[in-house]
Amino acid sequence: MKIRLGPDGTHLFDRRTGLNVLLNEIAPPEREWSAAPRQVSIAVTNACDLACSYCYAPKHRAVLDKSRLLRWIDELDQAGALGIGFGGGEPTLYRHLPEVCAYATVNTDLAVTMTTHGLRWNADLSSRLRGTVNFVRVSVDGVGRTYERLRGRSFTHLRSALETIAGDFQWGLNAVINQDTVGELDAIVAIAAEYGASEVLLLPEQPTANTTGAGEETVRVLKSWVGTYSGTIRLATSSETELGVPLADALPREVGLRSYAHIDASGTARTSSYAPGGVRVGEDGVIAALKQLAQVEAA
Ligand code: SF4
Repeated sequence: MKIRLGPDGTHLFDRRTGLNVLLNEIAPPEREWSAAPRQVSIAVTNACDLACSYCYAPKHRAVLDKSRLLRWIDELDQAGALGIGFGGGEPTLYRHLPEVCAYATVNTDLAVTMTTHGLRWNADLSSRLRGTVNFVRVSVDGVGRTYERLRGRSFTHLRSALETIAGDFQWGLNAVINQDTVGELDAIVAIAAEYGASEVLLLPEQPTANTTGAGEETVRVLKSWVGTYSGTIRLATSSETELGVPLADALPREVGLRSYAHIDASGTARTSSYAPGGVRVGEDGVIAALKQLAQVEAA
């Protein structure tokens, strides 16, 4: 198991099973706390073959250099991160993806996750990623015609991709919740259950240049649905979202950049994928950039 030291205690993590054990009676001194965030998401490319109206990924061309990325992966592992999550854009359009995932699996103890629209997954891609990705998050916003209208792709094709993914990976369904999808929450969970997902991540739509984000009424309906949910699939949401249900927070002191950071496809470290500013990761590495970012945030 990987060991991470932090303000809440000594944290053991097994990437294979997802088991977390916190020994909160063993409180390490601050000088020994792990320097890396617990989880880092990395946009490997801005490229995407879809054009969702509510997308907040940057649209300029950018892609990460493979050797820089491998150095950052080593650094994050050695500095105590527990996982890295690849995204984009669409990470399956990054040609080095299988090689990078294999590198992280063989050379580090990091859990490797990925957020994808799923539509490029076939037997070939699955076989190249099998055994090197611990968890796949598939974006499924609505079902049937709603999905097809929002994502511009066939829902039948998505079903076939889900079948492929579910055959080889532990997976979870990510759903952007807006006025189009909030009425389909039961159907979204049913699709997740049909293909054996272990989690449904509910993400109220964020405002972008083109969209206003989930409005008050959408959030009210979502909260009400969550309040009466009795299914067996675990529900999750982003740390900024308040769904009106009590949540157990095992790591209440590991917040901000101790908990999470994002690196975009231009190589800039940010507090989140939609944070406006950030610090470019230079030759002195990702931990140096994150320290500088923490100082900027504190100022
Ligand atoms: S699939 Fe994701 S990255 Fe691509 S356009 Fe849609 S929201 Fe953006």
